[in-house]
Amino acid sequence: MNRVLGTALTITAVYLALGGLWIYFSDTALESMVDDLDTMRRMQTWKGWAYVFVTGMIVFWTSFWALSRQSELIDHLKELAYRHPLTGLPSRSAAESLVEKSVARAGKHESGIAVVQFDIDHFSSINDSFGHDVGDELLHTMGATLQRCAGENGLLAHLGADEFLIVFENLKDSSDLVERLDVIRQELSRPISLGDTSEIYVSASMGVSLYPDDSSSPTELLRFSDAALARAKRSSPGTTEMFNVGLLELAYRRLDIDARLRAALDKDELELHYQPIYQSRGRLEMIGMEALLRWHPPGEDPISPVEFIPIAEQSGLILELGEWVIDRVCAQIAQWQNAGLSLPPVSINLSVRQFRTPGLIEQIRVALDRHDLPRSALVLELTESLLMEQGDAGRDILDSLRAEGFRIALDDFGTGYSSLSYLSELPIDELKIDRSFIGNLQRARSDRDLVAAMISLADIFGLRVIAEGVETTVQQEMLEKLGCHCFQGYLFSKPVAAWQLIELLQAQAGTPDG
Ligand code: C2E
Ligand code: MG
Ligand code: MG
Repeated sequence: MNRVLGTALTITAVYLALGGLWIYFSDTALESMVDDLDTMRRMQTWKGWAYVFVTGMIVFWTSFWALSRQSELIDHLKELAYRHPLTGLPSRSAAESLVEKSVARAGKHESGIAVVQFDIDHFSSINDSFGHDVGDELLHTMGATLQRCAGENGLLAHLGADEFLIVFENLKDSSDLVERLDVIRQELSRPISLGDTSEIYVSASMGVSLYPDDSSSPTELLRFSDAALARAKRSSPGTTEMFNVGLLELAYRRLDIDARLRAALDKDELELHYQPIYQSRGRLEMIGMEALLRWHPPGEDPISPVEFIPIAEQSGLILELGEWVIDRVCAQIAQWQNAGLSLPPVSINLSVRQFRTPGLIEQIRVALDRHDLPRSALVLELTESLLMEQGDAGRDILDSLRAEGFRIALDDFGTGYSSLSYLSELPIDELKIDRSFIGNLQRARSDRDLVAAMISLADIFGLRVIAEGVETTVQQEMLEKLGCHCFQGYLFSKPVAAWQLIELLQAQAGTPDG
């Protein structure tokens, strides 16, 4: 400060001295050159203006120079505050705005993001053993590696010391996250050669928080991933922890199921069970059966289709799986017929991807023809939500399936939030009321009213209505009173293996004991 004051005083003193000398010498020169008082006055005025102009230029130039320099310095200071001096990556102060912008973008595109914080394991011992230069070089290498993983426009920050942060945008699902984290893990597991040391191996612990699952506040997302990181470091170095513990386990299970399901299909580990559908008008008659996939990996508990079908749907394996089901069902029907059994049609569940596959009709046609079966041997089940999602395109596919001669059933009806009047527009034959409504029949009046409405509408539109998940005789009686006489549920039979179904077919006229 004293130096600044000294410089300012010197500049002022020089300015005053130069001003004084200018006035003294210019006045003396003027007096010796000009005698006329008028001319003298005019010259004095010009001299004054010349002085103002020159000093004005000097003031402009010096203030411009000083202010530019000051602004450069401020920019440089900001840069220092927002960039880590070692890696040149955005620093902790910049991280929050990085996450904030990312959250805003994700909100606009309705996509997900993951905020991942890293910490190099045992960084201080690397510093202690090899020295700080090697430590710095390691941080540099880490920064470059993570930059490669994050991509050219990737959102990466160096939070300080040995902590880094990556924001993954456009996250599809938990499996996508696991894959991206695995890429990083693989990159980090490569040996690094630093300075004169031989190659060293480093690992990093990671903590992950998710938008929108965990929070939509950037500050919280940072805090949560930090908390997850702390948990990862506590549990054991090199591990990854999600803020929401269950999510990662779920993601790994999905990947595992996906991989094993492929193998199970190849190894013929899958099986079809059949659940009869009955009509009760005085006596009980089997009017159909539904083919349901079963997967019992050797030495493990069975895995439910509720879990593996959506995974297969996402990975695309459902197309092969669906083709296998169609073919297997046709082969089974042919086998039963050859054994002299008279069979009701068999319902097959179609998934979204299958439904959208252009070759679907051809695929079913070929399977039926191979076993010399008529179109009426099958009923195709589609869920209400599937049809809602597909819109007009779905209607067109339905029309062509119908034109080909297939019966169509609308599965899980009531869960897709379509309006009841929407039913009148759909080319369908059967309506299967979702079992969640049947389970609630005795408890919730609103569900009872809804079921009554579904049954009377189905009646108006000439559809067969089937109640799914009937488990008690009370439910059966209530449904019959409401006008529904077709049932599928544990009260009558659980889904059973093909050989067990033969017995049920033979005992067609039996009464339920449920
Ligand atoms: P879904 O098509 O609605 O099948 C009916 C489900 O309800 C079956 O479950 C059946 O076992 C169960 N269920 C039947 N009666 C009762 C009952 O009285 N009480 C209870 N609690 N449950 C009953 P599952 O076999 O676990 O299948 C679940 C879903 O998986 C099916 O629902 C269907 O959407 C899907 N799925 C099964 N097999 C296939 C397949 O081959 N392809 C496709 N795309 N999806 C399939
Ligand atoms: Mg079904
Ligand atoms: Mg259903």
